[in-house]
Amino acid sequence: MASKKKVVDKSSTPDYDRYRVLPSEPIILSKQDPDDSDRQEKKKDIEQELEFQRQRLQDLQRRLYAEHKRSLLIVLQAMDTGGKDGTIKHVFSGVNPQGCQVWSFKQPTVEELNHDFLWRYHQHTPQRGMISIFNRSHYEDVLVVRVKQLVTEDVWQKRYQLINEFEHMLTLNNITVIKFYLNISKDEQKRRLESRLENPSKRWKFSRSDIDDRQLWDDYQIAISDAINNCSTGYAPWYIIPANKKSYRNLVVAHIIADTLEAMNPQYPKTEEGLEKITIPD
Ligand code: AMP
Ligand code: MG
Repeated sequence: MASKKKVVDKSSTPDYDRYRVLPSEPIILSKQDPDDSDRQEKKKDIEQELEFQRQRLQDLQRRLYAEHKRSLLIVLQAMDTGGKDGTIKHVFSGVNPQGCQVWSFKQPTVEELNHDFLWRYHQHTPQRGMISIFNRSHYEDVLVVRVKQLVTEDVWQKRYQLINEFEHMLTLNNITVIKFYLNISKDEQKRRLESRLENPSKRWKFSRSDIDDRQLWDDYQIAISDAINNCSTGYAPWYIIPANKKSYRNLVVAHIIADTLEAMNPQYPKTEEGLEKITIPD
């Protein structure tokens, strides 16, 4: 009897590169559709395809770890409730925890503020063979810091160039850098904040400051657009991911990460010749 399990079409290569921001084509965030999707399938079918992308990712991560020469830095930014935590959970479930580290950046400590703004991020860039995921990142230093006027304009304006130089230095040190902005609409944020308040198991994620930030929505959209336009470079691109639909968001992010690793083409290390002839003594 024929198996009922749907075979995922591995030859289909959707053009998710269209979400990449080209240095020559600046974007306006408010014009990017958070509901964009090329999938008409049911959620179940999208999740089946996500599983296929996760398998690719797991296999490539194993090769990256074994190769032990290069690494991958993934930056995730979004407004509150934008889905950073959910993306990490769904895209990286199944990846060997030994080869992957997640770093979440909150308000800087006094010690961190007493250093240059990149200090706290640099310490957590990935070692050879590893994947680091930044849940919020050095981009906060041109986003929240700008919108809430925590430093003066002449300070944050210089940071775009400093960020580009930092990321360039990382890429010259065999760290591939990719950056995702998870783009939700203001209405979707309202629904998600309400759901956090209604649901006791999600309520801990709510902070009153989320409302203050929501009221600064338009300022954030401008700051995010500027950050992306100034810092989407050929060596460290930004992708703007439509993120109102969680299953589509996860699929696109997983697909782009797997494609990035595939392009890196990590290799298992060469082993000494003749190992296959060795017999293990009883
Ligand atoms: P959450 O990720 O929602 O738990 O909250 C972390 C909070 O830390 C957010 O409100 C961020 O805006 C804030 N945050 C992260 N990085 C910085 C920074 N460099 N300066 C000031 N606030 C920051
Ligand atoms: Mg928050």
